[in-house]
Amino acid sequence: MRGAEAATATRPDPATAPRPAATSGAPGRDADVLVVGARCAGSAVAVALARAGRRALVLDRAAFPSDTLSTHLLWPAGVAELRRLGALDAVLATGAPPLTRALAGAAGMEIEVDQPVVDGIDHGLCVRRPALDAALVDAARRAGAEVRERCTVTGLARDGDRVAGVTVRDRDGQETTLRAPLVIGADGRRSRVAQEVGASEPERERRSGRDCFFAYWRDDPDAGDRRSVAAQWRSGAELGTAFPCDDGLVLVLVQPPVARRDAFTADRTAAYRATIARIPELARRLAGAEMVGKVRSATGIASYFRRSAGPGWALAGDAGHFKDPVTAQGIRDALHYGRRLGEAVAPVLDDPAALDATTARWERERERECLEVYQWTNVLARGTALTPLEAEVYRAAVGDPSIAAAMLEVFARRRRPSRVLAPHRAAGLAARSLLRRGDRRGAVASLGRDVATACGDALERAGARRG
Ligand SMILES: Cc1cc2nc3c(=O)[nH]c(=O)nc-3n(C[C@H](O)[C@H](O)[C@H](O)COP(=O)(O)OP(=O)(O)OC[C@H]3O[C@@H](n4cnc5c(N)ncnc54)[C@H](O)[C@@H]3O)c2cc1C
Repeated sequence: MRGAEAATATRPDPATAPRPAATSGAPGRDADVLVVGARCAGSAVAVALARAGRRALVLDRAAFPSDTLSTHLLWPAGVAELRRLGALDAVLATGAPPLTRALAGAAGMEIEVDQPVVDGIDHGLCVRRPALDAALVDAARRAGAEVRERCTVTGLARDGDRVAGVTVRDRDGQETTLRAPLVIGADGRRSRVAQEVGASEPERERRSGRDCFFAYWRDDPDAGDRRSVAAQWRSGAELGTAFPCDDGLVLVLVQPPVARRDAFTADRTAAYRATIARIPELARRLAGAEMVGKVRSATGIASYFRRSAGPGWALAGDAGHFKDPVTAQGIRDALHYGRRLGEAVAPVLDDPAALDATTARWERERERECLEVYQWTNVLARGTALTPLEAEVYRAAVGDPSIAAAMLEVFARRRRPSRVLAPHRAAGLAARSLLRRGDRRGAVASLGRDVATACGDALERAGARRG
């Protein structure tokens, strides 16, 4: 894998690299922070802590470079986080094309716009996870954190009510206990740390109406400008994307409604290809491209927030909060809130009360900032066809590039979903959706559902602000 090799060429072999003594200098402490999981959230936490002069010891059961299930698209805000963490040069060395344009298509309409600029970054990227995650692990090590691979955390150590460390099984099968004032679970959706602290059951949860099936395709050698476009199309209830990535590949994801799962269970590859055929624009995009490798799947997906902070512990990345992949926000959020967690706790690690107050505040801020994006993602993940109101918004965006640009700013996290349209404009489009010829009764019912969802979401946000 060319990309992974490029990203890890300068990485010391963890088996032979000198390992700094795991002590922070404080008695009875093996590190200032133990981080479980070394990918997006874990590496981001570790970089921030190490830069602040704190000893972060990161434990991961994987050996890097290592793959994981993800379609790994980054919008400019995610690329900007990679740069902040010192991982961008290695990621760019994979040769992944800068995705400077974004295309959204539905009901025969297409909107294509430049990516918004976020912190000076004007493009997205799609880099396969072995190279992406190896670059992050490398950035954590270069910042001064210790990353131990092939180490599985099997439980937590406690001092009374406080989490005070972890038990870990190393690559030789040896079990040891490591102690630190803070344990951060950055160990993904099936987080062991969340289980151990009793936080696995989400505080908010929404089951997705879509499944994910994706494969890599060797792109058309004459794809030209299409290799700089991250594209998504909707056709009926189907949704499909094409993300050009490293090594001349294009990642093609389809997200059929869950009701069609049986077809995929019967013959996954045939159903995947048939779904692409149902999205004519996607099928056209793939002319001259050839599928390589297997179709991978993620089914039974749920978006959630888990309780993410308590005495001596916190949950970063997917361990604490997850959104359906349909809006491709997970990696950015794992990097962004992981970094912010590391920055926030670094000055207070020696004061347990201040530490717990800080992790609780970090959790509240993450929820406040992510809740509306979570709700917007849940709407796109419903698994239904475009509603009359959504079609009206597309029509408006085709005629008005400022609306199209505003829609893309939501993906870039520069604009809240509810701020894409001014209220009078939204009301006008709602009225127009009712006046169109066709199934007027259906349009009224659909608009009623859209309004009910918007009201319910606004109430949920108001409750979160109060709570
Ligand atoms: C199908 C799918 C498609 C997606 N597509 C996108 C996309 O296009 N763009 C996007 O931004 N996001 C996407 N996401 C989401 C994104 O992949 C995640 O948000 C991101 O990987 C979260 O990073 P993380 O560091 O929190 O967790 P993970 O990437 O899950 O890493 C967790 C790490 O913890 C380690 N670990 C777990 N348990 C233990 C243990 N007991 N001991 C030691 N180590 C342990 C694991 O080995 C792993 O390395 C997608 C997700 C899915 C499921």
